[in-house]
Amino acid sequence: MRTIVIGGGIAGPAIALALRHIGHDVTVYEAYDVPPEDVGAHFSLAVNGLRALQKLGCLRDVQAAGHPVERMRFYSEGGRLLGDVARLRREADPMRSITLQRGRLVSILREAALAAGARIVTGERLVGGTESADGVVAEFASGRRESAELLVGADGVWSTVRGLIDSSAPRAEYAGLYGVAGIANAPGIEPGVWNLAYTRAGAFVYTGIDEGTQWWTAQIGDPVKPDLRGIDDAQWLRRVNELFPEALPQAVVGAATSIVASGHLTVCDTVRTWHSARMVLVGDAAHPVGVGHGASMCIEDALELAVALSGAPTVPAGLKSYDATRRPRIDRLLKHGHNARESKRPSTVKRQINSARMRVLLPFFERAQGYLYDYEPPSLPAIGGSRTATS
Ligand SMILES: Cc1cc2nc3c(=O)[nH]c(=O)nc-3n(C[C@H](O)[C@H](O)[C@H](O)COP(=O)(O)OP(=O)(O)OC[C@H]3O[C@@H](n4cnc5c(N)ncnc54)[C@H](O)[C@@H]3O)c2cc1C
Repeated sequence: MRTIVIGGGIAGPAIALALRHIGHDVTVYEAYDVPPEDVGAHFSLAVNGLRALQKLGCLRDVQAAGHPVERMRFYSEGGRLLGDVARLRREADPMRSITLQRGRLVSILREAALAAGARIVTGERLVGGTESADGVVAEFASGRRESAELLVGADGVWSTVRGLIDSSAPRAEYAGLYGVAGIANAPGIEPGVWNLAYTRAGAFVYTGIDEGTQWWTAQIGDPVKPDLRGIDDAQWLRRVNELFPEALPQAVVGAATSIVASGHLTVCDTVRTWHSARMVLVGDAAHPVGVGHGASMCIEDALELAVALSGAPTVPAGLKSYDATRRPRIDRLLKHGHNARESKRPSTVKRQINSARMRVLLPFFERAQGYLYDYEPPSLPAIGGSRTATS
């Protein structure tokens, strides 16, 4: 069966790889020509995402490219420790979450998809498409047209495919926060710990990678969407130093050496329609969760969609089954994502409420989040195994 995947980020190559396992003839179209290694900051993968990667056969490569993170610690503006819990896993789980460069994850997934027989075409931006009873014709900005029996929209939070499936689908908007990420070389910071300080300006996060290196991210509240174009590294470092004068961020920001990424954070209302008969959304196109779980959800989506399609008599039935299986878990996570984003917006009252709330909630953290990490990923057949009916 011919399948077009739009988007070569995280969800796109993951779904291409999963669909190769069930015999699809897959081509991924990615809008940008930029090498994946050069795009994006560092981020975290939770144990559920790692277990899903294991089913895709990529776990070892991803672990080798990343750094294990044992704990996460939350601090008040004044530097008081509010809580210390296991990072993105249950306390008793022997597996450790990891942090890695987003570009490394994209490269590993693309290489695995190519090795499994998928094609990846870069520099092709989808701009439109038409669906009939037995397939889809995709239209690209270059004038290229391609047809397939299934089109998967893995085109991220600003998804074009979302609008093709449902013209009244919600669109992403500025979340009232922007972020900047960089690297620092501060001495004496414990490696393997993710730290978050709630501050006057927003939230400051840093992770010790080794004895002398930290990856940091500042999330800054600003109700008016700022223009971030043309800000150079020196200007960013000055701005972060001014906005985060508190002792804890300063220990890292004062030793910051470079900026790796910056951008606006987005929100999007819940996407109620994930599929038509021949098109389906995965990853941020379907559910921008935005709380450090987005990449793990992409990998889970890939497995779940492939399994739903392989077990269904027709493509439309497979897409329906994927939606029904996936929706309850995603709805629960989206609710939590909203709360987490709200907690990073500044304001004195909110900061005080957050500190008080974190102290009360952290002892129950595992009970609230455990469902995320308990996920049991389904297994895929060996490549070329079961087939999806093309009807
Ligand atoms: C500041 C920040 C921090 C985050 N931290 C974490 C974290 O710690 N852990 C975590 O798991 N998640 C994190 N996330 C979320 C995570 O980055 C996303 O959930 C994940 O990248 C979604 O992957 P995706 O493949 O769905 O979309 P994307 O990664 O956005 O990829 C979409 C791809 O589609 C391409 N594309 C778009 N439109 C078209 C088109 N029309 N035609 C062709 N190609 C197109 C794009 O160029 C892009 O390559 C964070 C997000 C942000 C903003």
